[in-house]
Formats: sequence, C-alpha cells, structure tokens
Amino acid sequence: MAKQFETDVVVVAAGLSGLAAAISAAENGASVICLEKAANTGGAANMGMGPCAANSPVQRANMINLTAGELFRRHMFYTHYQVDAKLVKAYYDKSGDTIQWLMDMGVQFHHVGRAFGGEERSRGYSEGLFTWHVVQPEDGSEPGPRAATTMTKRMTERAQDLGVEFMLETPGTGLIKDEETGAIVGVKAVDKAGEEIEISCKAVIVATGGFGHNVIGGGHTPVTMELMYQLPDNMNHFYVEGAFRQPCYWCNRLGERFMPEDEVYNTTFVGNAINHLPGKVGFAIFDANMLRRWKKNGPDIVSHVHPHDLYEGFEAQWNADLETYKDDEGNPYIAQADTLEELAEQLGIDPEGLVAAVDEYNELCAEGYDSLFEKGREYMIPLEEGPFYGCKQFCGAYGTLGGVLVNHKLEVMTDDYETIPGLYCVGTDACTIYGDSYNFCIPGNTMGFCLNSGRIAGENAAELAFGGGEDGDWDDDGDWD
Ligand SMILES: Cc1cc2nc3c(=O)[nH]c(=O)nc-3n(C[C@H](O)[C@H](O)[C@H](O)COP(=O)(O)OP(=O)(O)OC[C@H]3O[C@@H](n4cnc5c(N)ncnc54)[C@H](O)[C@@H]3O)c2cc1C
Repeated sequence: MAKQFETDVVVVAAGLSGLAAAISAAENGASVICLEKAANTGGAANMGMGPCAANSPVQRANMINLTAGELFRRHMFYTHYQVDAKLVKAYYDKSGDTIQWLMDMGVQFHHVGRAFGGEERSRGYSEGLFTWHVVQPEDGSEPGPRAATTMTKRMTERAQDLGVEFMLETPGTGLIKDEETGAIVGVKAVDKAGEEIEISCKAVIVATGGFGHNVIGGGHTPVTMELMYQLPDNMNHFYVEGAFRQPCYWCNRLGERFMPEDEVYNTTFVGNAINHLPGKVGFAIFDANMLRRWKKNGPDIVSHVHPHDLYEGFEAQWNADLETYKDDEGNPYIAQADTLEELAEQLGIDPEGLVAAVDEYNELCAEGYDSLFEKGREYMIPLEEGPFYGCKQFCGAYGTLGGVLVNHKLEVMTDDYETIPGLYCVGTDACTIYGDSYNFCIPGNTMGFCLNSGRIAGENAAELAFGGGEDGDWDDDGDWD
C-alpha cells in the first residue's frame, strides 16, 4: 500500500509557476505540499532573465507608463482574439503587483527594458515594449542568461518560510478522483526511494512546465512550440551566435533571402520563418566590411542577452570553433571563406543560387532600396568583401504553447467547458494565451504568465480548500464566488 499524506493543496512541480502557486496558496492560509521531479527547484526559469509586467513599481520609478489595459489590447491584437481575453486581462492586471510581491521577498530588478534595444538603429525595435523586468543576480554581476535563478531561490526560501513542504525527486504520476463528485481529491507520486505515495487534498495545481500527454480528462487547446532561433548548444558559442544576429544577409539553402533582415531581432518571427524553409535551416552571412563596421560602431541590433563585448570576444571564439563546431556527421555549423562559392560549398548552400541572389541584392543596395522585402535602407549594405563569414540557423523553442484548457481562474475545464472541481493548471502546462506564436513584442511574457497564473491559481485553490466555491453564487463580474 502506498504511503499516505494529507494536506490542503498539492502543487505538482516547483518550477516558476509551481513556486508562485505554492507561495500564494500558503499565503492564503493553505497547507501545501509541492512535488518536484528534479533535485532542485526553479525549472526552466533558472535559464532565463526575467518576467513581464504592466504598471509595476520599477516601471513607475522609471516613468514608463504602461497600463495593464494597454498590454491587454496589444496582446489581443497580436493574437487576433484567438485566445481567452478574460484570462489575458487577469494576467496583466495582476502583473504589476506581482513585481512588488517578488521585491517583498528580496528579489531585485536590475532594470526594465526591451529584449533588444536601440530604437535609433532599427524601426523594428519600436514594436517591443518596456516590460522585461530583468533580475539582478545575487552576486552583483551584470545580468545575463540564468539571472532569474536568483528569483527562484528567493521564491523557494519564501515558500519554505511559509511552511511549504517540498518533496524533491518525487514526480507526480497521477491524480485521484472522487468518482461520485468528479472532484480531484489527491495526487499519486513516486518518492526518491522509489516508493509509491498518495497525498489526499482539497485542490491540486498542476505546473509541470509543458504537456506531454493529457491524461486528466481536461480539455485541451491546439498545441505547438514556442519557436525561436539559435545555433546548436548556443550558450557555449554565445559570441558567435550574437555576432550573426544582425541585419546582414540571411538566406535559405538555395541562397535566396526569405525575410527582411531588420526583423532578426524578433526571435519568434525568425523561428517561424526558418520552420517554413526547406530543410528547416536558414543561413546568416556577413563580410569583412560589415565585421569591421560593427567592431568600430557596435552592432546594428543590440542584444541584452548576448555578451556586451560581442565583437571584442568574437574572433577568439570564432577561430576556436572553426575546426570543431560541427554536427555528428562532421558538417560545419559555421564557415569562413574568401569567396561566396566556397562558403556555400562548406555550409551546404547552392553556390550558384547564392552568387546570383547576392548579385541581385548588391544591386538593390546600390539603388538604396530593397524592392524585395523593404528592409530598412540603412542596412542595405552590399556583401562583397572577403573573407565571408556564415553560419547555419536552426529553430529552437522556449517551451510549448497551448495545452490544458483553463478559465481565467486557472481552473481546468473539460472539452465541454465544465470545470473539474479541485483541479487547476498553470504556467506552460496551461499556456493557452499566445495562439500560434509567442508574443516577443511584450518581452518577459512566459515568465510573466507563469508567475501570475500561479499566483491566481494559488489564491483560488486556497479559497476552495476552506470551502469557497462549493455553495457560491455568480457575482457581478460573472465569476462564481
Ligand atoms: C534559455 C531560456 C531562457 C528564457 N528566458 C526567459 C525570460 O527571460 N523571460 C521569460 O519570460 N521567459 C523566459 N524563458 C521561458 C521561461 O523560463 C519558462 O517559460 C518558464 O520558466 C516556465 O515555467 P513553468 O513553471 O511553466 O515550467 P518550468 O519552470 O519548466 O518548471 C517545470 C517543473 O516541472 C518539473 N516536473 C516535470 N514533470 C513533473 C512531474 N511529473 N512531477 C513533478 N515535477 C515535474 C520539472 O522538473 C520542472 O522543475 C526562457 C526559457 C529558456 C529555455
């Protein structure tokens, strides 16, 4: 027989959304057990830099006037109203307060910004809003990838202070349902020692960071990936990757351009575009003249994720990678050559196609107008001076999109839109608010949704645990209270 436990609320997983849910349920008076498959807490947020918010104390202090209503309207325009407006509004409404909530736990924010900066350099940047609350790492260093680990640490400490019991290396394996009422009343799991356990509770919040297999009888929305683009194992080749994220010459394996290159700051758009190319691979190419220009003036597109001394560090990493940075069959991910034909041969681009397409492109540069894709005139710089530098660009993903069907209270619903009592789903598992593409124009969005969906579910689960919701009534907002 499985070992038995009892609590008010079980949170399945201690990633970002699970931590937020656990803290929020505990703050609202519930006893909480949080199961986590891994040996540590924080999940994917330990790789990121910070969440999105509207009207936060950090934004107000910097005179950034962005209201929840404005972000809501922009978000809904971006998604063509294919997602639940009430859930989106609930998320943005809470987001500013969530930043204060984190600060009260000891989280500090280095700045609030766009994911990519420098409006004067590209009209494309103006699409990105100042919503990305970048976490100040606890060691005082400049923020970079993994800065948000400091946030998940503070959240874990806060949860422990509130009495949340973490069971690490203990994956949840199933839900326990009361067959009479249809309510979810417990969770099955396997502990560190391999023993089966059962925890009976009044509410379960599922927060496992993406769906694999929906076995809970909940409804689901169309599923896809939160696409972006990257070089393979990019964090170990970050100078090389960053150096190519510029409006230079981008093409498919036929050598033909596939988008206006001044959009390459938007990792979602480029990921989507590469996903539709033959072989799902793109190529970025620049020449000696462009490299010289960036070294002197700095990059055209400034990334706040990649190293700040991009072109100082580029050559050392590039030269080391040239011999070794290859796929399992020995095909290079990057190449350098004195002519475009040689470069094409090395990277697997059609050499004749590339030369012909670059000739056309160089003619457009001479005319100063990109009649093919309307790329900004200031970036119409010809590709003509060897050596030429090239790399392959692939799709990556920040996570999954779509998943378990939830309402604005993060209650799980069946395909018939009936709630399953006692069951909530948050974060990436319930990431139903983007339609087909991640909203990179409001940066920090997935962490923002994870934190706020977690908080909202934690509050509602605690309320349910103390009897709320069962004998309720519809209130003026149309909510069941
Ligand atoms: C490199 C990178 C950088 C990013 N940067 C940013 C950024 O700056 N801003 C932003 O908004 N977003 C960013 N993201 C996305 C963001 O980090 C994630 O969307 C977010 O952290 C997901 O949170 P989550 O709680 O849904 O899942 P996760 O944080 O992934 O947590 C899921 C947890 O579930 C556990 N788990 C899985 N199955 C079980 C089970 N059966 N039982 C118990 N536990 C289980 C896992 O071990 C994990 O700890 C980034 C993502 C990546 C990969």
